[in-house]
Amino acid sequence: MTSLIMPFAGDYPVSQTFLQHKAVAVKNGWCWKPGTGCTAFYYPGIDYAIPVGTAIYASATGKVTAAATDSSPSGGYGKCVKIDHGDGFLTLYGHLSNIIIALAVGSVIEQGKVIGLSGNTGNSTGPHLHWELRINGIPTDPTPYIITEPVIPPSGDKYIVTAEIGLRLRDAPSLTANVIGGMAHGTIVTVIDTEKLTNGTTWHQVTTDAFTGWACAELVTTEIYMTPFFT
Ligand SMILES: [Zn+2]
Repeated sequence: MTSLIMPFAGDYPVSQTFLQHKAVAVKNGWCWKPGTGCTAFYYPGIDYAIPVGTAIYASATGKVTAAATDSSPSGGYGKCVKIDHGDGFLTLYGHLSNIIIALAVGSVIEQGKVIGLSGNTGNSTGPHLHWELRINGIPTDPTPYIITEPVIPPSGDKYIVTAEIGLRLRDAPSLTANVIGGMAHGTIVTVIDTEKLTNGTTWHQVTTDAFTGWACAELVTTEIYMTPFFT
C-alpha cells in the first residue's frame, strides 16, 4: 500500500469532501469511474481552500505523468500535475498557479518535494487545491491512506523563483555587484540571509546545491514565493 502525506503544510479547511464531490457527479449523471462508456467524466477528490501561491508537495514518491495545463475538452483541472506511484496508485493536483520547471513528464519526484504552487486555474470558482487519488484508475477517497509518519517537515525557508524571466544572482547585495549567474523561473532556493538597503530594495542571499548568491526580490508570502523588484 502506498502511504500519502498531506500535499501542503498548514491547516487549511476542506471545502468539498470526497463524498460531496462524488455526489455532484452522481446528481448530474456524470461518470466518475472509467469503463462505463460515457464521455463526460468528473473525478472526485478532496478540495482544500488554500490561498494562491501556497507550496504543494508530492504526496508520495513517483513518476510524473503530467505537468501542464489540462488539455482535455473541459480543461477542468487547469494547471495540473499527476504522479504515478506504482501499484496502481496515482495522485493528481489540480488548479495550480505554477508548476516547477524541473517537473518534466517521466521524471521522478520524491515524497515531500515541492511540485508547484496552489492556484485557481481551470474550472474553479475560487482558490483551492483539488487533490485526487486514483487506485487502478478509480477515484478513491485518499483519507485512509494519509499517514502522519514519516512527516516531511514543511520547508519554511524554501522559496520558488516566480519571475517569468528569472532573477539575476550577484556576489553581494547591490545592483553594482558582480553578476555571478541567474536563477530560472521555477528554481527552488533556500533563503539564508536578508538585507534591506536604504534605497528601499530588499536583497536575499539564496542557496541551492549548485550556487549561492544575492538576488533583489520580494518574498510575497512567508512560505514560498519570490518575485522580483527588478532582475
Ligand atoms: Zn475538486
